[in-house]
Amino acid sequence: MMDKYDVNKIREDFPILSREVAGKPMVYLDNGATSQTPRRVVEEIERIYTHTKANVHRGVHTLSQEMTDMQEQTREKIRSYINASSIEEVIFTRGTTEGINLVASSFGSRFKEGDEIILTVMEHHANIVPWQLLRDRTGIVIRVVDINDKGELDLDQYRSLFNDRTVMASFCHVSNVLGTVNPVKEMVEFAHSRNVPVLIDGAQAAPHMYVDMQDIDCDFYVFSSHKMYGPTGIGVLYGKKKWLEEMPPYQGGGEMIGKVTFEHTTYADLPFKFEAGTPDFVDIAALSKGIDFIEEIGMDNIAVHEKELLDYTQKKMMEIPGLRIYGTAAHKDAVISFLVGNIHPYDLGLLLDKQGVEVRTGHHCAMPLMDRFGIPGTVRVSFAAYNTIEEADALIAALKRAVAILG
Ligand SMILES: *Cc1c(COP(=O)(O)O)cnc(C)c1O
Repeated sequence: MMDKYDVNKIREDFPILSREVAGKPMVYLDNGATSQTPRRVVEEIERIYTHTKANVHRGVHTLSQEMTDMQEQTREKIRSYINASSIEEVIFTRGTTEGINLVASSFGSRFKEGDEIILTVMEHHANIVPWQLLRDRTGIVIRVVDINDKGELDLDQYRSLFNDRTVMASFCHVSNVLGTVNPVKEMVEFAHSRNVPVLIDGAQAAPHMYVDMQDIDCDFYVFSSHKMYGPTGIGVLYGKKKWLEEMPPYQGGGEMIGKVTFEHTTYADLPFKFEAGTPDFVDIAALSKGIDFIEEIGMDNIAVHEKELLDYTQKKMMEIPGLRIYGTAAHKDAVISFLVGNIHPYDLGLLLDKQGVEVRTGHHCAMPLMDRFGIPGTVRVSFAAYNTIEEADALIAALKRAVAILG
């Protein structure tokens, strides 16, 4: 671990951070959509393609063995990163979205018409639409927990939604719009007291805080590699072994079978039962270097650094007349959604980009949340380990100029 948080040293690992946009030094503040990738991950991908590439789990030959070892080493690294009990509980997916679809489809196959699942109004579309698809197939009922004006979940309402028909609760650990960090451990504990299993969408938590499966005790947890300094196209589904063993496969094909005849097929053991087809083994292997990056700095250090950026930027933003922040929860992660006066978020985003500042604008895949606030969208700033106070200052200066022009 680093003794002192040396952000300039961290930035050296990210060549993209020294590029320009619109003739200005680029300020990348869209980490909630995807983080940048450290050089060591990119180099690992190149090294594999030029040195080791071979299909996993199929061959006796040396390359296949090496490649399989690298993939399985990442699985063990992830297991340790999230403190899962065993590697059988770590399934590689295409990302958070596929993880939730897998659970809704496979675990959801046990649900019957009239069964109820509990979601929240702050969910990403990835934790809404898969359940709606299941509803269309089975007739389950979706119940939705509201928030207060600070963007905190109404926990009394959450508890009150549980009844004899409740079969599942599914909610985010951290809101990708509001930054709210939900009290997931308490929420899981309550659901379990009613014998209801829980899925947690950890896409915005896994890059910013330790997530401990033994401590949270959820039944399923999903996240994406590309938001946590890893390659695109892969993600992780954690599931408790007892559920994964009971669940039917999600997709069928190679890698996930025991023995196949036209009459009958048996399935592979966990975790392979849920990994049909050739996995994205190069990116999975390279994700290992992204985890190394986080662990070398230390997650606690990253969290402190990002909190500093959050507090500093929010304070400066509040000095801008007419600026409103959406999401002011007591426990908040390094995401700031805001609007200024009647200025359309898209116009603000465009003028920020003209000054080299990359932010996200729009509904952030959370249209029901936008409806809840009665707004079309927001501008969103989201930080990562490599952002600096100077970049926060550049954002504020650019924002003031944009507001002067548009306001
Ligand atoms: C990004 C995100 C997702 C979707 O992740 P993908 O990588 O696109 O599958 C789901 N939920 C939250 C909270 C997110 O931030």
